[in-house]
Amino acid sequence: MMNLHLKGTGASPGIAIGPAFVLESGKVKIVKRRISRSDVAQEQERFVHAVGVAENEIGAILEDIPEELKEHSGVLKSHLLMLKDRMVFDRTLQTIENDCINAEWALDKAVKHIHSLFAQVKDSYIRERMEDIEYVVKRVQVLLASSEEEMNLEGMDEPCVVVAQELSPADTVQMFKQNILAFVTAAGSRTSHTAILARALGIPAVVGVEHGIRGISQDDTIIVDGLTGDIIMSPDDDTIEKYTEKQQSYIRYRLEVIHNSALPAETRDGYRVKIKANMELLEEIPSVISHGAEGVGLFRTEFLYLASRELPSEETLYNAYREVIERLSPYPVTIRTLDVGGDKFVSSVSLDDEINPALGLRAIRLCLKEKGLFWDQLRAILRASVHGQVRILFPLVSGRTEIMQVKALLEQVKDELREAGVPFDESIKLGIMIEVPSAVMVADILAREVDFFSIGTNDLIQYALAIDRVNESVSHMYEPLHPGVIRMIHTSVTAAHNAGIEVAMCGEMAGESMYAPILLGMGIDELSMNALVIPKIKRIIRRCVYDDCVELVRRILDASSGSEIKYLLDDFLRHHCPEEFEPLDERYPEFMKTGSPLLN
Ligand code: PEP
Ligand code: MG
Repeated sequence: MMNLHLKGTGASPGIAIGPAFVLESGKVKIVKRRISRSDVAQEQERFVHAVGVAENEIGAILEDIPEELKEHSGVLKSHLLMLKDRMVFDRTLQTIENDCINAEWALDKAVKHIHSLFAQVKDSYIRERMEDIEYVVKRVQVLLASSEEEMNLEGMDEPCVVVAQELSPADTVQMFKQNILAFVTAAGSRTSHTAILARALGIPAVVGVEHGIRGISQDDTIIVDGLTGDIIMSPDDDTIEKYTEKQQSYIRYRLEVIHNSALPAETRDGYRVKIKANMELLEEIPSVISHGAEGVGLFRTEFLYLASRELPSEETLYNAYREVIERLSPYPVTIRTLDVGGDKFVSSVSLDDEINPALGLRAIRLCLKEKGLFWDQLRAILRASVHGQVRILFPLVSGRTEIMQVKALLEQVKDELREAGVPFDESIKLGIMIEVPSAVMVADILAREVDFFSIGTNDLIQYALAIDRVNESVSHMYEPLHPGVIRMIHTSVTAAHNAGIEVAMCGEMAGESMYAPILLGMGIDELSMNALVIPKIKRIIRRCVYDDCVELVRRILDASSGSEIKYLLDDFLRHHCPEEFEPLDERYPEFMKTGSPLLN
């Protein structure tokens, strides 16, 4: 059948047409790595730990098994036994030691050995037990692999659309390097880190596909429209032609948008807002500059940690920061300290499995626990600060105690540098992300301790509305216009201004053009966003009148629901920026002409 249609969430704009490369979630990539003799005990421990977790998982299922199914619990019990089977367990430990190889490889070798033995057995019952072994081994391999951050792109030799159940931010970075046309995932939402990264890298993406991705077959031609969330499988010639035209128009549109990107973000009555870029990788610097950013408002440094299995050295970090600072000069760069945990994992920082990673040992909490990790990063930022204008931003701060701990540690790092005669910017500005509801409630107290705020709406909305940002089943509840969210933003801005400090916004909301009038009207000083949308936001701001935006905010603060706020905002946009609702130009494709201000 031709032109089969799937619908997901458009997570990164652009159109791709090409063969599907379906990453089988059922297949675990076995990463093979030699280890040094001194690492044998640690590797064995990693294996024992993974088996322990698998045992607990099976144990938990056994406990929960309903009475009427109890008779089937034998299979699970046998799985438990197999985990500790001599041929699997002991042999893997032995192989790690004898061959000095990682646990995944050793376990794979043990299973292959059992396979060869079973292959000679005629008895079908015994041969079926092999399937059980494979099942439990796969569980352990998955658990081991979760710290490996690897994706198997073997067998992919031409540009293609990667289709997967889910992808980690690390997988997405790898794709950038592999020249992938687009990606489609069954899981995820617009604000999951994988989606953010796809936008930063300019890879079209559709996430959270309704009814999943099972219908997509390997090598089938598919069309991905990252703007509308449409996916078309086995397109006929007419459809391919139609989308090729759309693709071309989109490219022309982007070029034209970039052309005006250097104009300032100033309202008609002269109110000016700083527009900066969020960035993750050094490869994005040219795009940040060409899209008219007045600096980097959020450098998500965790992506430097994805590059290798080892922690980056202070020198590596220093060189990366210095490069960004020098290339962006004279504009400022806000460097955020490491924010791993939650939905971001890196191989070099091992984190325990957590039931609720978003509420777990993440970001500043992890850095305050792993002080060595934090120390190196702070030294690298301070050293790089002499090469341009730098500010430091701390993520996920929940209250004053954390700020005081961070500041005390930073003073120690500064003392160490002073003693060693290493120069740094003595008056470097410190800021915190406002992304935890408690920080909003005490924003007046926090504002006395720092030089600026940066509101992280991705997490703030997640925590305020209790919706997991990576869970597609609740992504429809992601509602930036919820009065609870609007009031939190307003409270934070007011607290900052009362204390005489600046306030920025760097969550995805800052880059959704329709919200710009509200943020302007609240008096936000800086908006930081994916570079691609900067020209559009600037254009909208140039069409606004500041006083009208203030009046809009006065009205929406009185509104009692998200839909009421949406109505007021739509009405405002129609009156003040009608051009954004009307056909931009006959040359633009129809999806541009529909003019939803949500289209960035
Ligand atoms: C945010 O939470 O809004 C934010 C900008 O940080 P991140 O998306 O990296 O968590
Ligand atoms: Mg955040």
